[in-house]
Amino acid sequence: MSDSVRVRFAPSPTGPLHIGGVRTALYNYLFARKMGGKFLLRIEDTDQARFVPGAENYILESLAWLGISPDEGVGVGGGPHEPYRQSERKDLYKAYADKLLADGKAYYAFDTSEDLDAMRASFESQGSAFQYNSLTRVKLKNSIALAPAEVEQLIASGTPYVIRLKVPAKGEVRFQDSIRDWVHVHTSSIDDKVLMKSDGMPTYHLANVVDDHIMEITHVIRGEEWLPSAPLHILLYQAFGWKAPQFAHLPLLLKPEGNGKLSKRDADLGGFPVFPMEWTDPATGAVSKGFKQEGYLKEATLNFLAFLGWNPGTEQEMFSLTELADAFSLERINKAGAKFDVKKAQWFNEQYIKQQDPAALAANYLPNLPADQGLAFVHLFLDRITFPQELAVKVAEFQARPAIYDEAVLASKWNADALSGLQFIAQALPNVESWEPEGIKHAIHEVLEANGIKMGKVMQILRVALSGNGAGPDLMISMQLWGKAEVIERLATALAKFPAL
Ligand code: GLU
Repeated sequence: MSDSVRVRFAPSPTGPLHIGGVRTALYNYLFARKMGGKFLLRIEDTDQARFVPGAENYILESLAWLGISPDEGVGVGGGPHEPYRQSERKDLYKAYADKLLADGKAYYAFDTSEDLDAMRASFESQGSAFQYNSLTRVKLKNSIALAPAEVEQLIASGTPYVIRLKVPAKGEVRFQDSIRDWVHVHTSSIDDKVLMKSDGMPTYHLANVVDDHIMEITHVIRGEEWLPSAPLHILLYQAFGWKAPQFAHLPLLLKPEGNGKLSKRDADLGGFPVFPMEWTDPATGAVSKGFKQEGYLKEATLNFLAFLGWNPGTEQEMFSLTELADAFSLERINKAGAKFDVKKAQWFNEQYIKQQDPAALAANYLPNLPADQGLAFVHLFLDRITFPQELAVKVAEFQARPAIYDEAVLASKWNADALSGLQFIAQALPNVESWEPEGIKHAIHEVLEANGIKMGKVMQILRVALSGNGAGPDLMISMQLWGKAEVIERLATALAKFPAL
């Protein structure tokens, strides 16, 4: 184990954090915990055009809900590399871009967007795609093609410019990704990417590499969508003369059916969330579902996310956050995309609900009932719910008198024996002194036996009579919870309403 592992989650506050982003944060957190390292939260907010109010707060709250707590970064306070919000580090990036300019690794470019559009159109008309690179840069308006005096004059006169990386004409970029192994890319396929924009802000690429270096990041664990940027990042590390971190690009999250990337549309169609918490779009007011508000417990959400692309290599499925950190390794992350199986998320939730403190569930989700009654209902329904808020629905259904009676059960089980069985039970119940499951069961048993009727002929019909349904939770406990008078009343009503034989 090393002390020096430092990883970061570096979201851009451009909207609600996608659940895939939460998985990225989780894997970084787990890796840091496993290696005894540090987990940083850096906010990459240099793209002002895409800034969305409330998004940063949403990120912080989502991570806090799940207990994915950063050791350093935005929201933590202190830390050796403050500030951790890139918009507050603006001046620093300019100094690094200037260094690349001075070393001949970057250059000024004055092309207007109209110039570049015209270039693109002319390439397209010849059936090829335009790239700003070693072949084209000599014909464009930049500090490589123009005479030094002209460049100085353009800058002095305030002509807007960007700074571009001078990608070497020949060569191969190679790096070994922890998940994808060796990645090779020829430099001819990489553009002279913009590092500083004309508004004086760095691009994602420059700010990201500079900060990862300054913040001493050892492992960059991020989504597969950033894999195409990695060769450019390697070139930037080389241009600065810095050691690149170890990269690990996580597999994509796929649609529930397994083909194609998971989208918000899939979520809307399937009625499941793809965001950790509910999000209200500040521009449109549209509300997107969140795992938290849908009733997913944080333990279930974490366990589900951990298994989206990783497995422990054993049969064990239930893992606490601490157990995940112990078991986690980059080697056990899959290369193939991970199917977003919402049924599995529900399964985890059902397991974790059973591990909750029943008294707390009763207090939180059945707050209007007396504590002992709430607790009894929690025990009655715990095996029958996926989300805790279903408890209140179950209780309301339970307490409502049957509006209809299960016809299939009546068709197969409603006969003379069942009728006399129910009549005998109706006579016996008022005399039950101790109205609890054993006492009720004993009384029913006794009266049926005395009259030669088998329990099996009557019990399902009794359930239909009392609840309307052919199946449900333990009937004796249910009778206790309905209460004696209510049960007697329901049974009399059913006997009056059941079809004549
Ligand atoms: N700001 C990028 C994002 O929004 C960070 C990508 C990376 O981790 O390098 O995901």
